[in-house]
Amino acid sequence: SEKIRAKLEKDEVFYSFEYFPPKTQAGVTNLYSRIDAMAQMDPLFCDMTWGAGGSTDKLTLEISANVQKFSGLEMVMHLTCTNMSRGSILNALSSAKDAGIQNILALRGDPPRGKTEFTECDGGFSYAVDLVKFIRAEFGDYFCIAVAGYPEGHPDSTDLDADLKHLKAKVDAGADFIVSQLFYDAQIFLDFVARCRAIGITVPILPGIMPIQSYQGFARMSAMCCRTVPAAIHDALEPIKDNDEAVKDYGVKLGIQMCRQLLDAGVKGLHMYTLNLERSTRLILEGLDLISPARRELPWRPSTMVKRVAE
Ligand code: FAD
Repeated sequence: SEKIRAKLEKDEVFYSFEYFPPKTQAGVTNLYSRIDAMAQMDPLFCDMTWGAGGSTDKLTLEISANVQKFSGLEMVMHLTCTNMSRGSILNALSSAKDAGIQNILALRGDPPRGKTEFTECDGGFSYAVDLVKFIRAEFGDYFCIAVAGYPEGHPDSTDLDADLKHLKAKVDAGADFIVSQLFYDAQIFLDFVARCRAIGITVPILPGIMPIQSYQGFARMSAMCCRTVPAAIHDALEPIKDNDEAVKDYGVKLGIQMCRQLLDAGVKGLHMYTLNLERSTRLILEGLDLISPARRELPWRPSTMVKRVAE
């Protein structure tokens, strides 16, 4: 865990890659190859989501463990409290530790399927802050802990200041850094960081960047996760929404522009929501000159991870 904490403190620009557990075994094998290939871009860490409602608990653990063991990358495993008793949370954390995973993104999670309000399960936790406290109480300083932050406020929250105080409580309970929800206006993120600093949140805050890779995906994710999408983005997408290539190209252009604005304002790390795809993330980082030309030219090589996992 020292690896991420220490690197976060250095004065160097870095990026990290988020992946999610695929639905099929073939998908998992493909993902190992993809993560292996993208490791050549040298991310600070990668992270694996915890399926909604705990639907992928075993798979998230398994993939995280294999990546940690075989890829040479530092792994951050997401963990949510949805449908998780204290006992199953402890089991998940112990398994992660046994696998050499040293970093957890601690989340409350969304309400279980069919429910609109979050209710903790028997003996479980109500808020992410309780999970952060639990991890510190049970494992001391072993894990580096990340938590989620919401530049436009959490969707359940009607009070931005209260939401920010709840974020500060997670940091005060022991979180080492914050990863933000996605946004499509860089200024919204920069204002959020300023508001965090103003109430005494001092840990690193990584902007969550989700490149637009398809019109439908963008429409769904932005409706779910953002309050504001600048009119210029709607205007640019409307005439090209049926042209997948044009949408992807626009997504790269917008990603470069947003990230450039963030870096110019002093942001040091970019957290890429890759959606398990390489191209847009790579083109954005290349467009920002963050990947050296030598790395761009790396030849295709077979994934060693797939072989090592199979053995
Ligand atoms: P919390 O920090 O607990 O906040 C939830 C709500 O409760 C907020 O409105 C907050 O203001 C409020 N609140 C907090 N403390 C208190 C208190 N003491 N009293 C009253 N209100 C309080 N979901 C998944 O299922 N799997 C994932 O892998 C996953 N990864 C994510 C990664 C990132 C970077 C982000 C931003 C989100 C992710 N999510 C994931 C979604 C997340 O689970 C949901 O947004 C969830 O609704 C909130 O989780 P949280 O950890 O932010 O909750």
